[in-house]
Amino acid sequence: MTQKISIQKTRNPKARPDQKKLGFGQHFTDHMFIMDYSREKGWYDPRIVPYGPLELDPATMVFHYGQAIFEGLKAYRTEDGRINLFRPEMNMKRVNNSNERMSIPQFDEAFGVEAIKALVSMDRDWIPTEPGTSLYIRPFIIATDPFLGVRSSNTFKFMIILSPSGAYYPSGINPVKIMIENEYVRAVRGGTGFAKTPANYAISLKAQELAHDKGYVQVLWLDGVERKYIEEVGSMNVFFKIGDEVVTPELNGSILPGITRDSCIHLIRHWGVKVTERKLSAQELFDAHAAGKLTEAFGTGTAAVISPIGELNWDDKVITVAGGKIGDLSAKLYETITGIQRGSVKDEFKWITEVK
Ligand SMILES: *Cc1c(COP(=O)(O)O)cnc(C)c1O
Repeated sequence: MTQKISIQKTRNPKARPDQKKLGFGQHFTDHMFIMDYSREKGWYDPRIVPYGPLELDPATMVFHYGQAIFEGLKAYRTEDGRINLFRPEMNMKRVNNSNERMSIPQFDEAFGVEAIKALVSMDRDWIPTEPGTSLYIRPFIIATDPFLGVRSSNTFKFMIILSPSGAYYPSGINPVKIMIENEYVRAVRGGTGFAKTPANYAISLKAQELAHDKGYVQVLWLDGVERKYIEEVGSMNVFFKIGDEVVTPELNGSILPGITRDSCIHLIRHWGVKVTERKLSAQELFDAHAAGKLTEAFGTGTAAVISPIGELNWDDKVITVAGGKIGDLSAKLYETITGIQRGSVKDEFKWITEVK
């Protein structure tokens, strides 16, 4: 399916936001990408149009039953002015894994990457250039039948919007405080934990609010069945350095398979350090800390890349990791991945796709 993308340029380009005050997800570029799906036509009519509101029937299925998926990646400006995407084919592959779980029809992955490139290229002037800034890319799919019966929709929209975003760490990397969640769960095996679907987020907000009230940035989820094993943090996967081993929870169906997670596993192995994907209980983690073996803890995700965990609270037992500072491995991962993304570190693994 190589389809031609039709283009309708805006006649009213917006004023550019102040690059020093971008924040995250608040500003949107001049254009968006849309493609429709029907059972008869498959995915059709790919188009880039001026950014603006959608007109949707109030009965549109996504509003009622949440049949939707999304993705998140970034475009980076290199110092010499090129535009880099980081492993976009992995995001498009994950679209189809999420689609499969959510009864959404499969999408042409290669065409999805082409659509991202076409839209980013069109709005290239919107990519900020200040250190640490980027253009956040949000592809998503929604169910669009106007119908209140419970079944899979027969029509969908695939869309991509772009948002210039500020540096995640404007004043240097600072470790975060995380609370292990004992009451609420995010996902169970057989559910939707591995899919990037809005439902997973809707049900996570309550626990996050309660953790915020106690002064914690995010919650660390435990498995939904035994509530013993560590799964992931908010919108990040987690890694722990215990003695000579780096441990990250195995992909068991209830954890989101992060692309940053995969990249970290790759790099750590490449550096000759042992990484194990396995079950890890909160008890083992706290025991390792008591034995002086827990030397680093960090989250991984597209937004922050690496987010060191400085403090963990489990049932009001509080431990500090790496003296509340960023560990050596965390720092090396951060420098390497952001360096590859921004073109200052050699792209040994062919992770970069350039936008022309
Ligand atoms: C997107 C996401 C991640 C991180 O994935 P990346 O591909 O590394 O950005 C981790 N956990 C959840 C729940 C997510 O939605």
